[in-house]
Amino acid sequence: MSMRSPDFTLAAGPTTVSARVLSAQGSPVTYHYDPAFLERFRTLGELVGRVYGTENDIILMQGEAVLGLEAAVVATVRPGMKVINLVNGPYGKGMGYWLRGHGAEVVEVETGYREVPTPEMIEAAVLANPDAELLAVVHVETPCGTVSPLREIGAICRDNGVVTLVDAVASLGGVEIHPDEWGLDICVSAPQKCLGGPSGMSMLAISQQGWDLIAKNSNAPRDSFLSILDWKDKWLEGEKFPYTPSVSDVYGVFAACEQILEEGVDAAVLRHARTAAASRAGVLAMGLELWPLDPATAASSATAVKLPAGLTDSHVRDHIRRRYGVMISGALGAGDLVRLGHMGETARSLYPIIGLSALGQGLRDLGCEVDVGNGIDVAMAALSESPNL
Ligand SMILES: *Cc1c(COP(=O)(O)O)cnc(C)c1O
Repeated sequence: MSMRSPDFTLAAGPTTVSARVLSAQGSPVTYHYDPAFLERFRTLGELVGRVYGTENDIILMQGEAVLGLEAAVVATVRPGMKVINLVNGPYGKGMGYWLRGHGAEVVEVETGYREVPTPEMIEAAVLANPDAELLAVVHVETPCGTVSPLREIGAICRDNGVVTLVDAVASLGGVEIHPDEWGLDICVSAPQKCLGGPSGMSMLAISQQGWDLIAKNSNAPRDSFLSILDWKDKWLEGEKFPYTPSVSDVYGVFAACEQILEEGVDAAVLRHARTAAASRAGVLAMGLELWPLDPATAASSATAVKLPAGLTDSHVRDHIRRRYGVMISGALGAGDLVRLGHMGETARSLYPIIGLSALGQGLRDLGCEVDVGNGIDVAMAALSESPNL
């Protein structure tokens, strides 16, 4: 017999999607050059620009965010080019492999995975490497549940003429990000995290400085699934598709964007912050430890919880999924932790209580001493302090 679907998906993406997104995905599949679809796709670019709050060009590539990230690397990196890469988690680490793989001379600013780099560290690296052309940063290192000081990073890079490549996959819609004000040049995000949409699309916002850097790279791919330039030349400049978009996903992402714009992006960011604050308070009140060493660096989109000694993330997650029908996220190699996602739909109401009770009781079932009642009490008190948005 096949396994029943979980009752609650509180993972760090893909996450629970709304009925509105689900039904939009069930819309009739149109031909991609049907005028109605062309209008949809054009409007989706505008909606994504509004979610980002940017005037920069929007490129929508039809593949999970890893496509957009890899496309940004191959578009920008020339052999021998110097790149500063901030590494404080698995996504930053992976970015370094890509950068080096395409011939960049990579200077890594590395911290432990329970920390984030400080503006002072970044400024020192930028000043010590005046020939660096690009700096890569992961805004929210989802596997560690941490958020980097992106506003300051953007300012340092802009002041020193360094182009920024930002993995904003787990921040857009849930954590404050302002590409234009903060001087962020190439942002890559996706719908399946804080926007509560389907996975399967990369959403890029590219500034003129970003395009100028790409223009310097004579090896930037053309006529390739990985080509950002194909999308610029064909879609932005002529409404032709380099390849067929995933039509159903486009409808789903459209609904997810409409939904967050109706709510207001700032309101959604507050909703994520409120849910995360309740989760963190509950974790601590149960007697557990947060993974981020400084709570001020804890991200609003996922709460990473250090596991008590002797347990593995897969053991804990399997137990919680089987016993309680709740799916939470593992560590993705970041350390001995599990993660309670609060993204999109699950960043409201009593979802954090479900996550906390499943985790707390699950750990107790496995022999740990956890004060589940106190955790729920404190988390509920935190939630009762502000309205359910
Ligand atoms: C989810 C996520 C991605 C996309 O990668 P997948 O693991 O394939 O979903 C990229 N970067 C960050 C920071 C993410 O959270």
